[in-house]
Amino acid sequence: MSGAGFDPSSLFRIGYGLYVLTTRAEKDNGCIVNAVMQVTDTPKRLAVAINKQNLSCDTVSETGVMNINCLTESAPFEVYRNFGYQSGRDADKFAGINYERSENGLIYLPENNAAFISLKVDQALELSTHKLFICDVTDGRVLSDETAVTYDYYQKNIKPKPEKPKRKGYICKICGYVYEGDELPADYVCPICKHGISDFEPIE
Ligand code: FE
Repeated sequence: MSGAGFDPSSLFRIGYGLYVLTTRAEKDNGCIVNAVMQVTDTPKRLAVAINKQNLSCDTVSETGVMNINCLTESAPFEVYRNFGYQSGRDADKFAGINYERSENGLIYLPENNAAFISLKVDQALELSTHKLFICDVTDGRVLSDETAVTYDYYQKNIKPKPEKPKRKGYICKICGYVYEGDELPADYVCPICKHGISDFEPIE
């Protein structure tokens, strides 16, 4: 990341999707992830990266299972707010939400979901801020013919445009959170999406 002309926004052009990852320990939980990819075909395996600050990372480490719900383009911002902008440590993310269970006992979303895929962890790799799980596919079902959302589509069409704050500050390019203040502390981490200061830019 030390190239003289490195633009962090170049990484936003990678074609991610957006997914609700569901887990269950003492209670059901879910979080938003974007780093999901198929890595082998025989056997069918996926790699999933989860931020260690998410409760779901601990739960997947303990239980070794998860469901990936492939959000559709028409999924409203409320779904992202519910699963991505609060912690399962404080909130029951399934209160008032329609859900069903797959054969592994985990929740999947019957709405706003193009497909769910059930995974069983084969290996886990420690990657400082994240854990990368290499998983076997144990089940999967298509739920809608609608197009699954991409990160780019979310950024352009779903994420609310931030309101202009009155004070000087910095905005998180990932989730839109605004830090108000003259100087961003070097070790600052976005309280919403957990990205560091390299993903913040000053507000004009
Ligand atoms: Fe953020």
